[in-house]
Amino acid sequence: MPALSRRAASLGTENAFVVLAEVNQLIRSGKDIVSFCIGQPDFPTPVHIQDAAVEAIRGGRHGYTPSAGIDELRAAAAASMAKLRGIDIAPEDVVVGAGAKPFIAYAIASTTDYGAGDEVIFPVPGFPIYESQIVAHGAVPVALSLRESRAFAFDPDELAARITPRTKLLILNSPQNPTGGLLARRDLDAIAAVLAKHPQVWVYADEIYSKLVYDGEFVSIASLAGMQERTIVSDGASKTYAMTGWRIGFTANRTLAPVFTRWITNTESCASQISQWAALAALTGPQDEAEKMRARFRVRRDLIVQLLNDVPGFRCASPGGAFYAWPNVTEACARIGAKDSEELRKRLLHEAGVAVLADIHFGPRIEGEGQHIRFSYATSEAAIEAGVARIADFIRKATR
Ligand code: PMP
Repeated sequence: MPALSRRAASLGTENAFVVLAEVNQLIRSGKDIVSFCIGQPDFPTPVHIQDAAVEAIRGGRHGYTPSAGIDELRAAAAASMAKLRGIDIAPEDVVVGAGAKPFIAYAIASTTDYGAGDEVIFPVPGFPIYESQIVAHGAVPVALSLRESRAFAFDPDELAARITPRTKLLILNSPQNPTGGLLARRDLDAIAAVLAKHPQVWVYADEIYSKLVYDGEFVSIASLAGMQERTIVSDGASKTYAMTGWRIGFTANRTLAPVFTRWITNTESCASQISQWAALAALTGPQDEAEKMRARFRVRRDLIVQLLNDVPGFRCASPGGAFYAWPNVTEACARIGAKDSEELRKRLLHEAGVAVLADIHFGPRIEGEGQHIRFSYATSEAAIEAGVARIADFIRKATR
């Protein structure tokens, strides 16, 4: 048998998909599971967006498009991203892709060289694809810890200590998966001050949850003086418009736009034209459906945080954005004799019928931070009530 590359062998994954397969298997075998695993809106895509896709198909607008996307969508995405961030973005600086996810790889591949010792700083806990793609592209992953005591921001001094002359890229994610934390303006100011001393570092600002903010203001690092030029702003349609399976994301950066376009020509050619017309309707049409979804997420956030804080041994801070809750379950683990969050997660799945993800699915453990599990509250209020009640019941009965 011919061998696989080291790159293929090193490729990581997104454990949400792995756990989801396990959960679906249990459900198929007749087990009753309440799932908080998957980070996607549970709402249907708004009807006017669906209609735009049908019109595109019927109107014959279903062939290849330019690799950077149709002009109409690039312009709409530029306007939408610029407005939310209070900056100017030209349509030609925007590239449309098949979701925001591919741009993580393109950004790493465009700013680091394979095996050259180039370093990429990324948040832990964080979206697992960052580290996986850093390693797959032969760069060196450098973890930056997010801390509960700082509302899941990181310490700018820690950032300063991690940057070396070999650092090529810093990945930021706000609002954050998995903690729901937001980078506040003062954090971003501090980050920008550190970066001012290291002009060789690009920033990848993963702002896919930028429109799902419930407390405080969303601030983009790109809006800070001197930062836009070196920042790749990444956003998309998946989370805001309940369009995860449509696969539309977009990034903005003047220097990298032609480079990303070339990557797309080399990989998927273009994002689905049908989805592009749908995303155009999403961005330029009425926003009330998106606003209603956001309002529902906020209600669910308040509900789940309150319920989780009533579970013995759980302590849950109120996340400012996204649709994730990240309770500290250190004490609950101790109560039931689980050695860590992963053992708790397995027992919740098999003994309580509740599916969640554990902190280890989002990077290595951070010294002194204790145990956490992730809930996606992109699910009905009834499921939240039933699922958390099962957990509370289980912890009470399993307490030693
Ligand atoms: N970044 C983060 C932090 C995410 O959580 C996700 C989706 N889970 C993505 C990017 C990818 O989103 P998309 O569906 O647009 O590829």
